[in-house]
Amino acid sequence: MLEKVVIANRGEIALRILRACHELDIKTVAVFSEADREQKHVLLADESVCIGPAASIDSYLNIPAVISAAEVTDAVAIHPGYGFLSENADFAERVEQSGFIFIGPKVDTLRLMGNKISAINMMKKAGVPCVPGTDSLHEDRFEEAARHAKELKYPVIIKAAGGGGGRGMRVVHSEASLKNAITLTRSEAAAAFGDATVYMEKFLEHPRHIEIQVLADEHGNIIYLGERDCSMQRRHQKVIEEAPAPGITETQRRKIGEICVDACKTMGYRGAGTIEFLFEDGKFYFIEMNTRIQVEHPVTEMITGVDIVREQLRVAAGEKLAYSQKDIHLRGHAIECRINAEDAVTFMPSPGVIEHYHPPGGPGIRVDTHVYQGYRVPPYYDSLIAKLIAHGTSREQAFKRMSMALSEIVIEGIKTNIPLHQRLIDDAAFATGGTDIHYLEKKLGLK
Ligand code: ADP
Repeated sequence: MLEKVVIANRGEIALRILRACHELDIKTVAVFSEADREQKHVLLADESVCIGPAASIDSYLNIPAVISAAEVTDAVAIHPGYGFLSENADFAERVEQSGFIFIGPKVDTLRLMGNKISAINMMKKAGVPCVPGTDSLHEDRFEEAARHAKELKYPVIIKAAGGGGGRGMRVVHSEASLKNAITLTRSEAAAAFGDATVYMEKFLEHPRHIEIQVLADEHGNIIYLGERDCSMQRRHQKVIEEAPAPGITETQRRKIGEICVDACKTMGYRGAGTIEFLFEDGKFYFIEMNTRIQVEHPVTEMITGVDIVREQLRVAAGEKLAYSQKDIHLRGHAIECRINAEDAVTFMPSPGVIEHYHPPGGPGIRVDTHVYQGYRVPPYYDSLIAKLIAHGTSREQAFKRMSMALSEIVIEGIKTNIPLHQRLIDDAAFATGGTDIHYLEKKLGLK
């Protein structure tokens, strides 16, 4: 097993990784910014190293600082978590060149999947169904783009090849706004992702977001852990996730799962990954692959019993997956609410001190969080402060347990989106299952 791992992240995922390491008797090194001294995982880690000031660019995104933390502590591997440097191929390369293990896929895979156009082309070759769309759009050939849009039929969506986090996307309803949309998305993409390349896809009007969790080791074993439905979104960002996806049949699951396993085989995938699809009228359309642990991984863990972070660590140590496909059985249903430090109505971030904190409990309830009473939510990072997960033998029971957990949990001193989750868990259409990616914004009157 790995002897010592640097956790190159913060918040709930850093704590999640720390727990998986300690369970495997792996020593941990927490790296933290000056704003994060009081983080729970920093206090619990075997060692900790301050890697810079509060701003992410100077700390969690500072590649030399993270690598030197591994050097000074004699660590053997670096777990990047999600966000920050997790999908940065240059980082992974520097990690490996410095003699450490990058806990994630190979550098080439990160490069390939990090660009949505090359990812789509690779997936197409591997026989994965994709959203109808184009290759990169040429800066000056507007007529060509207009012709593509006509063929795809409006509405279309212009997407940044290097995009992520729900940013770098623009829906176009008619030719009149196409040119402007391309120009704007290009300049936004250049500023945000350092790459102006954009492409066009058919904008699906009522799809669901369904994704497949995969795990692969270096011995050629690849499995899929079923799917998650992440259709409850605002601004292309997930708010609630559940597994399995309502209405997906055993045959559909197996078929798309096997397609994903084949694709992973084709690209020589290693570690945990998620292949994301839009699902409309019974068909799956690939949109992108996330080459890292995802925020919503717990719902899959709850229904499969597989500890995905533990498998990541084992695979990085060169071990074989502890499971083969026949060991994977889905048990019951799980749902996750992302609790953010933000106003439930305006969505304005709400940093500050948590004056009172009472976690919920009871059968089937899991809370992944780094916060505690007296913890100060800093204003510098993502607003996610907790993930509330409920598991039940049926979807109804999972929802009921979530509803109780949402009424039990107390987080005071800052604003949170708990009231929004309470509204959604009581929503009749959501309870029925199968609401699409536009449902939440329509309900909120944003569309
Ligand atoms: P990101 O990398 O920013 O997460 P994705 O490509 O995964 O971007 O898309 C995020 C979300 O944007 C999807 O879950 C979906 O809600 C919406 N989206 C992306 N592509 C399309 C499309 N072709 N049609 C409709 N919605 C889309």
